[in-house]
Amino acid sequence: MHGTRILEEADRLMTVCNSCRYCEGLCAVFPAMEMRRSFSDGDLNYLANLCHGCGACYTDCQFSPPHEFNVNVPKTLAIARAESYAAYAWPRAFSGAFARNGLAISAIAALSVALFIFGFAACNDRQVLFGVHTGPGAFYKLMPHNAMAALFGAAFLYAIIALVMGVRAFWRDIGEPIGMMAEPRSLWQAMKDAGQLRYLDGGGVGCVNADERPSDLRKIYHHFTFYGFLLCFAATCVATLYHYLIAREAPYPWWDLPVVLGTATLPGWGRCWRCISAWCSACSSPCLMASSCTASIATSRWCATRGNGTR
Ligand code: SF4
Ligand code: SF4
Repeated sequence: MHGTRILEEADRLMTVCNSCRYCEGLCAVFPAMEMRRSFSDGDLNYLANLCHGCGACYTDCQFSPPHEFNVNVPKTLAIARAESYAAYAWPRAFSGAFARNGLAISAIAALSVALFIFGFAACNDRQVLFGVHTGPGAFYKLMPHNAMAALFGAAFLYAIIALVMGVRAFWRDIGEPIGMMAEPRSLWQAMKDAGQLRYLDGGGVGCVNADERPSDLRKIYHHFTFYGFLLCFAATCVATLYHYLIAREAPYPWWDLPVVLGTATLPGWGRCWRCISAWCSACSSPCLMASSCTASIATSRWCATRGNGTR
């Protein structure tokens, strides 16, 4: 017995796949699956988080719908993955936001920015909203540096604590000893695989796209996004060092390092657009899998064309 209906289904599929093993060269899910004969909830959540929804095992599978075995590994693991995010969320009270996180994030982000700007203007000089500010320090007229550092520092701290607590809950669930987390060779291998997106290649031919033809586009866009975030982080770090070490205040000229690093993140927005545009026509809403930023257009299409719905 498993904790949820989708984990029951994942168990059924992994048992079928363990007998078949045709897909073992496609990604990290199948070799990991082969190390078990039966699956706990933690095992299934672990496998679900190894899958990135490339779709290769769906198009390769001789048992995918309309076969009576109804083997749809990407869809099942994507839903299990989204539910695992909610299950491991910290604090638990926020876990419900994962179900419709596109709407929740948009509303919270818009409200936070409005509250910050109008709150600051209300507590200080209201004319700051209507004035023209140029030159060094102009940016901080609207968003004071200390208030910004305190607000985003708190958000950063909260994110780190939430991630650590989420990983702690996940680690308990998969039942591995804590020492495994700090095993240098495994950590190095994991970092290399993640940095190269080793498994995001559908077994060598690329991930399946909306037209069910494989290509490396997803891998390329994921690289843009991942390294874009790293560049964004580097830009923020350099600007912080400028501010505190050599007392140089924003805004910086276009050729300066924080601006150059920040501008280099732009190609990553292409990937974000792809996720946002993954709209599921089966239930006229953003696809559940898309909202957890794990789906390809192809998986949304499967929901729509096969009438499965998202849950
Ligand atoms: S997805 Fe299909 S083809 Fe691949 S291992 Fe599972 S049952 Fe076999
Ligand atoms: S969808 Fe891709 S990553 Fe997920 S199990 Fe299938 S082949 Fe592996």
